[in-house]
Order: sequence, then C-alpha cells, then structure tokens
Amino acid sequence: MLTLTHLLEEAKCYETVRRLRWPEGNIECPHCQSPTVIKRGKDDKHPHRQRYTCKACEHQFDDLTGTVFMGRHQPLRVWIGCLYLMGLNLSNQQIAQELDLHKDDVHAMTTQLRQAMVEKKPEVQLSGTVECDEVYITAGHKGHPEAVQKKGGKGAGGSSKGFGVGAPSQRKSRRSWG
Ligand SMILES: [Zn+2]
Repeated sequence: MLTLTHLLEEAKCYETVRRLRWPEGNIECPHCQSPTVIKRGKDDKHPHRQRYTCKACEHQFDDLTGTVFMGRHQPLRVWIGCLYLMGLNLSNQQIAQELDLHKDDVHAMTTQLRQAMVEKKPEVQLSGTVECDEVYITAGHKGHPEAVQKKGGKGAGGSSKGFGVGAPSQRKSRRSWG
C-alpha cells in the first residue's frame, strides 16, 4: 500500500524542521540561547538527525530537542505526514488509513500535536513553507490563537492559517486546533 509517508523523505523532513527552527541558519542552544554551537555528527539511530554541542554551556542537543517530535518512536516523516493530513481536516481514522498506522497511534499523535500548538512549540508556531519531496506543507498561525481571534472567528481569511497543501485552491480550515 502506497502511503503519504512514502513520498516524504526523512532527510528533507529534518531539513524542514531545521529551517523552521532556525530560519536564518543560525543555530541556537535551546538551553542558554547561545549562538556558539558546534556540530557533533549525526544521531546513531537517526542518520539524518544532526547533533550539536553548545560551546557556552556544553549542553548537547539535536534537531528535535525541545520540539514536539522529540523522543517519539515514529519517524519524523510520519509526524510531518500527520501534520499535513490534520491540515486537511482528516479524521484520526482517515489519517490512520493514509499513513498505515493504528488509529490509537494516530490519536496519540494528533493529541500531542494539538497540545504543542496550544503551547506554541516553535516547529508549529513559525510560518513558512515546508517542502518534503513533492509535498508542500504551509505552516501558519496555528500557534497564534490571538491572531485568529482578531479576525472575529471568521476563520483563516487568508493563506497563512494551518498546515495545508500549497495549492492555491486549498480551502483552509476554520478550526483552531485546540
Ligand atoms: Zn547553551
């Protein structure tokens, strides 16, 4: 069965997270915010996950440290795929079918992602176009409920709300994810 995750390359998903976290490429220590960070090779289990050491506080971290994706047993591309499908307003059951996962796993993932949006974790807060192979995901105002509220609950009203495909015809959800 061909699932969305077959279209998503793990390496590009990591690139995407790095670009969302550090848009200017200036990697910052999540512990002390120091910019003096050196790369320390890739993760043993995840060959695309870059590791870093902060020269200021010697804190070690990697691409996913401090993000909602940290320490999860699913590959990053499954999380990105899940976010993408949530942006299309698919139900947990539909997402489970698309990703070939158990519905309970999807329920746990969507719950965590929605919670992260409420908590304004950086990888769902920042705007930007997420490119994973052929699939484009636009990250938007999910982490900015106040911005949404200013629009009087009329919904997206623009191109910046939510994770959706980059196609111009994409209808945005008026759901606020939390
Ligand atoms: Zn540090």
